[in-house]
Amino acid sequence: MYFAFVSGNPVLDLAGTVASRRSDPLDALATPADLERWVARCDELPDGVTADAAGFQSALALREALYRLALDRVLGRPFDRGSLESVNAAAAGPLPTVELSDAGLRVSGDLLAALSHLARSGIALLADPHANIKECGGADCTRIYLDRSRGARRTWCGMDECGNRVKAAAYRTRRRGARGATP
Ligand SMILES: [Zn+2]
Repeated sequence: MYFAFVSGNPVLDLAGTVASRRSDPLDALATPADLERWVARCDELPDGVTADAAGFQSALALREALYRLALDRVLGRPFDRGSLESVNAAAAGPLPTVELSDAGLRVSGDLLAALSHLARSGIALLADPHANIKECGGADCTRIYLDRSRGARRTWCGMDECGNRVKAAAYRTRRRGARGATP
């Protein structure tokens, strides 16, 4: 399974591992091994993290709580209490260790530390009143992303197929409009 890092924030990328949430949900994190690969692909998280069954369930629960809070933010409604408690509890855990060397940054830690880091990132993002957090305008795409574009005019998540689908739909609408105007 292909993992997308297009949302402008790792927490939103994690939430986006479930695609088409409202129509035909597809979960890219089906097994603990999928989670291990996702963590390894995420730049901010430690390498070589292993996940057992309990750790995997904790990660999925944190993902769903972060998604719920991000959606609450997009819809401008109060945060879900249970999700707040889950994310705040995860954020209180141990953090990954960061070290600088000539080779650059090295991040190390276990799954608990990775989840704690994600929870803190989520809190920082969702507490930022200037963060333009949006849901993709692509048909069936429920990905939430951080719009950092000038003027915050971005309307889709950054997945190539979403932008292309939106453009194709707009083109079809314009053509229909043009045909309707012709006698
Ligand atoms: Zn999209």
